[in-house]
Amino acid sequence: MQAETPQGLITNVQRFSIHDGPGIRTTVFLKGCPLRCFWCHNPETQRAEPELEFFPDRCIGCQECVRRCPEGAQAVEDGRRVYRRPRCRGCGRCTETCYAEALVLAGRWWTAEELLEELLRDKPFYDQSGGGVTLSGGEPLLQARFSERVLQLCQEAGVHTAIETCALGQWDRLAGLLRWTDLVMVDIKLLDDAAHRAATGAPVRPILENIRRMAEDRPPGWDVIASGLCEAISVGDRRLIVRTPVVPTVNDTPAAIGAIAAFVAGLPKVQYYELMPFHKLAAGKYRSLGLEYRAAALEPPAREQLAVLAEAARRAGVADVRVAS
Ligand code: SF4
Ligand code: SF4
Repeated sequence: MQAETPQGLITNVQRFSIHDGPGIRTTVFLKGCPLRCFWCHNPETQRAEPELEFFPDRCIGCQECVRRCPEGAQAVEDGRRVYRRPRCRGCGRCTETCYAEALVLAGRWWTAEELLEELLRDKPFYDQSGGGVTLSGGEPLLQARFSERVLQLCQEAGVHTAIETCALGQWDRLAGLLRWTDLVMVDIKLLDDAAHRAATGAPVRPILENIRRMAEDRPPGWDVIASGLCEAISVGDRRLIVRTPVVPTVNDTPAAIGAIAAFVAGLPKVQYYELMPFHKLAAGKYRSLGLEYRAAALEPPAREQLAVLAEAARRAGVADVRVAS
């Protein structure tokens, strides 16, 4: 009997990406995340089911969606077209006739083989630039069977593989992904467990435990790097990167960054550590999903402040600290 082909729920396959690992890459955004960071830059990837994004500015009022929707979620009230989100079950039918692209479905099911075919379209660019494929999200670990299969198929096709993960999940599932992963980029938002729960809705202890195991139980050839943009590396040269998104009111103090850096410095073979400043580019995504944007009042950290935080990380024992642009 043939094994069932795993399917994955994906919001976006982004080609020619240059910020998600070395070289030119294709980044796959998987849908579903165990954290609920209120500043999340990809809120459309948080829920593990298809969701409709509505961009009212693009709507031309043709009412095709009203005719297509079987749930009455697209309707006309007092002569005006309205979207009743609670009735929507994310089937995506209305998006098929919305030529203005005011309605966009976040989340489509792919088989691993179907995705591989798409990913291999850019193999010449990966080969020329030292790039490859990055599984991001959302959280690749939440769809572990699918992620593992995609990573395996990529490696077998000679493509460098990377994952961006929050590392919250069962170790055996994470270990399954690591088998086929050349580069791991993992975030630590806060070291204090209560503060981490308040900011993300989840504890940090199991995350730290998984990161420690990744660093210490690595197979031969693994190199541990604490965060950053990394140079082009070849398939088989496995690395672990630890990153911190710097978010005002959450962790933008020397004490918070210093505590994380001290943990990173305790990992074997730490080479560098990266701070990633919060930005507000996701505000429109929150509106399109009907979600409150709780980071609206925050401002991105200033360059001078990031320099102070980087210095705090160095004082905590990480020799090479970098700040993402
Ligand atoms: S199909 Fe699209 S453009 Fe037409 S009314 Fe619906 S949302 Fe607006
Ligand atoms: S996604 Fe489906 S249920 Fe939701 S509004 Fe569109 S057609 Fe209706």
